[in-house]
Amino acid sequence: MLKNPFKRNSSVNKYQNLIDQINILENDFKRLSDSELRDKSFKLTKKYEDNQNLDSLIAESFALTREASSRTLGLRHFDVQLIGGLVLNDQDIAEMKTGEGKTLVATLPAVLNAMTKKGVQIVTVNDYLANRDQVSMGQVYRFLGLDTGLIQEGMSNSERRENYNADITYVTNYELTFDYLRDNMALNLTEVVLRPFNYCIIDEVDSILIDEAQTPLIISNNIDTPVKKYILAAEITEYLQVNLHYTIDEKNKNVVLTENGSIQAEEMLSVQDLYDPKDPWIPYVMNALKAKALFFKNVHYIVQNNRIVIVDEFTGRIMPDRRWGDGLHQAIEAKEKLSIRQKTQTVASITYQNFFLLYPKLAGMTGTGKTAEIEFEKIYKLSVKEIPTAKPILRKDLPDLIFKDQFSKWDAISQTCNKIAATGQPILVGTTTVEKSEMLAQLLNEYKLSYEILNAKPENVRRESEIVAQAGAKGSITIATNMAGRGTDIILGGNINFKVQRKLYNILALAKNSALSKKNNIFQSQLLNEYEGCSQKFLSVLLSLSNDPEFLELSDTDILRILQENDRISISTISYQSSIRFLINELTEYSKKHQEQENKIVKNLGGLYIIGTERNESRRVDNQLRGRCGRQGDPGTSIFYLSLDDNLLRLFGGPKIQNFMQTQLGDGEPLQSNLITKSLDSAQERVEERAYQQRKNLFDYDDILNKQRKIVYHERRQILESVSVQKNIFAHGEQVITDLLLELNDKTIPLIENFFGRDLALRYSSDFNSVPKEFSSSEIKLYLFSEFWLTYQAKKAELSVYGVGILETLERTAILINTDRIWREYLQKLSLLREAVGWRGYGQKNPLYEYKQEAYMLFKNREELLRHLVIYDLIRSSVI
Ligand code: ADP
Repeated sequence: MLKNPFKRNSSVNKYQNLIDQINILENDFKRLSDSELRDKSFKLTKKYEDNQNLDSLIAESFALTREASSRTLGLRHFDVQLIGGLVLNDQDIAEMKTGEGKTLVATLPAVLNAMTKKGVQIVTVNDYLANRDQVSMGQVYRFLGLDTGLIQEGMSNSERRENYNADITYVTNYELTFDYLRDNMALNLTEVVLRPFNYCIIDEVDSILIDEAQTPLIISNNIDTPVKKYILAAEITEYLQVNLHYTIDEKNKNVVLTENGSIQAEEMLSVQDLYDPKDPWIPYVMNALKAKALFFKNVHYIVQNNRIVIVDEFTGRIMPDRRWGDGLHQAIEAKEKLSIRQKTQTVASITYQNFFLLYPKLAGMTGTGKTAEIEFEKIYKLSVKEIPTAKPILRKDLPDLIFKDQFSKWDAISQTCNKIAATGQPILVGTTTVEKSEMLAQLLNEYKLSYEILNAKPENVRRESEIVAQAGAKGSITIATNMAGRGTDIILGGNINFKVQRKLYNILALAKNSALSKKNNIFQSQLLNEYEGCSQKFLSVLLSLSNDPEFLELSDTDILRILQENDRISISTISYQSSIRFLINELTEYSKKHQEQENKIVKNLGGLYIIGTERNESRRVDNQLRGRCGRQGDPGTSIFYLSLDDNLLRLFGGPKIQNFMQTQLGDGEPLQSNLITKSLDSAQERVEERAYQQRKNLFDYDDILNKQRKIVYHERRQILESVSVQKNIFAHGEQVITDLLLELNDKTIPLIENFFGRDLALRYSSDFNSVPKEFSSSEIKLYLFSEFWLTYQAKKAELSVYGVGILETLERTAILINTDRIWREYLQKLSLLREAVGWRGYGQKNPLYEYKQEAYMLFKNREELLRHLVIYDLIRSSVI
């Protein structure tokens, strides 16, 4: 047992005092009854209400949570977990290795911050994990008198609002961010689901804030798409040759059309100028070339239901909701001869970077944060704190093995699998693409090895988690793209929960079908044979289920669903569900002994053996793979098999290394060399640095939009929340008149006559300059103001017939709709501006600076535009 974790880690030294206090309090709390503990929790909330000082409650709140968890889940937070919780409360990133229990760690700061009654959000990467964590950790919160919420895909607005209003809410990054964007498009306060942001803990923070930070989340509308141009462009690029008509810049993911290429394309398309602004072809040709030369099926995307679905390069997961922008997606659709989906117009968008920065208090946890430390610090002002493990790490990370080519590498990997499988030691092979997973599967077939394969192809996350959970079972081989099943623990000897579910499914399906075909006797004898040792109560509950008509009506799929959901449904009112729950508990107890034996056997075999098949573009992703073994002091091994023609080595290794290796390496025999490992490390660092620069660049460009978004959303929210916007309407009206008079200096008066759609009493000459002879400009202004006021009153009277509040709603809606319209058009202009800055270049000028200046000018017009649109809309509308 670890005596003093602080000695090893100075960055957490400062918490020693608090940890001591929590440990002392624990002894007191142990003696309290459940209701006394709950009472303590209420008192803490009250204390916060009085003194508004959260820091003074830390020790007590942490000790309470620890005790609540011991009593409800049987899990007592380790001291190192307390440190993790303190780091999270200090708005930093807690780096805790896989299996160290981050889910439980989050409960500590969550309870503390829930005392403010301002809401805590815990963000996970998928719905399954959010659900799982909410149900299990919910027991701790409930015990302390706090309620929890859960947001899942497909929930209605009212369900969302209710769940966000809970003390602690579990939600995915995706749902949360979209809810924010949707809230800011609401025309009515009742549509808004989120409450003001307070405190947020992001699980797998590096995945969300780094890997996924690059692509903004977008809500969009369809707009007209020149389908023919995409198709024609795809057709002609088939006749363009690399290095003659175009060149490829693989490192920067770009293509360049040569002079020759331009001429050839113009000829084939029968156009004079690809760049003609009235009929531009160049974006279509460039995208078609990129689609052809840089984006490959089953690597960068897959085709699913006649659609292009992006595969995340980092994680190997599919991203069904994302599309490449600027016409690239359509170009790939054209290349694959699929129907081309409409181009879309962005109506709202935000990057995760800027979204999460909206929280006044933000924290994150991950197993792999250290290598991205600078980025977290610079962009998010979050520093990464390494938390020591509860038990020493026993994992062996073997040096990389480098082969001459792909063939030798994959051959060696499959041989290794065959050798290790013979001992029964479980193996997990991490691959980078779908294609490679399938190729390895083929190779393993030749050895007649059985395996599970998990890749980015469509399957549900639940199954993914189930397969990964069994990856530690004796003799299992799992091939998975890097991040498949993330968040799921790999337990040596297999995961008992999933095993029990499967077993019970077989039993229940058999019980039901035997009852239906009146063959109960056969079933019973089968059952006794297979599960001798089950308690009498188990059998009798099973028999009563076979006589329960409601149970007998369930389909096999229903049974499977209930079993899968049972561990996540807290209180059940349906009788067969509580029976099933009982059976699960019984079978779990029964299987535990067997499980312990299996666990020991696999430990003796050396634990999980992890094989990486390629270095990824970031060390973090490699570390995530390694981190899947050696959890909680388990033994385990990790090794990477590489080859000279792996992307990373080929593109970034440099010619020296290539030459050196070519001479050193024979067919089939690997090399373990420090030189090469070092060179790979630095290549990875360079790639990471480049990726960081790209994200930083995105962040810098997004900065101005972000500030403007904040202004627009803030103003919009004020309008949405106000009971009456009459004052704004008057102010807008008067300003419109002032603007107009200014503008009218050199124009004719009829404009004003039309303005209110009614005859104005004044008789002007057509020359505005002569007006002052009869009226001073302030007189005209006053006159127009009163005309406006009269028109307004007339409309008001007219409307009052329809009921109270109609005018207010109409006015508010007019402002909101026009705010949105202007914002939408502004986003459009901004994206064109961004392109223009990139395309035309500014000579010696700094494109970012130019972009910001122009964006600022475009945005400045917004207010004037808004008041004109609103007043014109109101005046012209048939109701007002
Ligand atoms: P991580 O997200 O850090 O990889 P998890 O939250 O998935 O880890 O937890 C891993 C496993 O450790 C879970 O099975 C959990 O029940 C167990 N665990 C966590 N904390 C404790 C604890 N204090 N005592 C015993 N088991 C724990």
